[in-house]
Amino acid sequence: MKNLGITFMAAAFAFSCSDSSTVSVEADPTASLSSAFDEFDKNNTDIYLDGANVVIETNGLPNHTSPYWGEGNALYVAPEDGFKATPSLITGYDGYATLTVSVNPQKASSPSSTSLGAIGIAVSGAAIFNDQEGNGPLSSAAVSLDYSGAHIGPSEYHYHTEPHAWTKDDEKLVGIIADGFFIYGRKCNSTGTYPTDLDASGGHTSTTQHSSEPLYHYHIENDLYLNKYYIIFPGQYQGTPSNIR
Ligand SMILES: [Zn+2]
Ligand SMILES: [Zn+2]
Repeated sequence: MKNLGITFMAAAFAFSCSDSSTVSVEADPTASLSSAFDEFDKNNTDIYLDGANVVIETNGLPNHTSPYWGEGNALYVAPEDGFKATPSLITGYDGYATLTVSVNPQKASSPSSTSLGAIGIAVSGAAIFNDQEGNGPLSSAAVSLDYSGAHIGPSEYHYHTEPHAWTKDDEKLVGIIADGFFIYGRKCNSTGTYPTDLDASGGHTSTTQHSSEPLYHYHIENDLYLNKYYIIFPGQYQGTPSNIR
């Protein structure tokens, strides 16, 4: 909350500065929500404009089946062969989180690394994590990933790899990263196939199903991990990340 206040003041200051020095800065008062936000689960998320920012609130719950719901739950599904669950259930955690980003995010002057914890919010409502696991590399924890590339512990349910509950080798929206840029599946709507112009973060600037204007966005990179998975977003952030919490 404290950080938010400072960011707000800094933004206001920067705005008034540029406003007085130049006539036609991008002082577009008609900030509007991208249609991409329509794809976020309405039961799990609350998304609204706050000035030139968009606020994404989520209860952190996935809107799809998983073994991690626990037997007896309506969304419980039996695990696949070889799966080794962590001893945690989705219902055992409060995954409530808030992310506030610009409606018009820009690339930062230099990229920055992702860290442990939530680095994005998926359209399902649950968190996106990077390619690391708290107590070691993700590889040793991979057996605990459910069919949708997610697991729990020691925090809320979160995805590390391509979330097959709704996207698999396609151009669907995956979610939003903490720097405000959207992340899509392995293919791009602009060409219908795997993009060949991605930067080191899996990003590029092109049209999408949500924008006829070319905008910067990320993709899940089409690089196999452990012969089975596709990491969602190892980083780095090309924009300026906000805290998710
Ligand atoms: Zn994890
Ligand atoms: Zn693209």
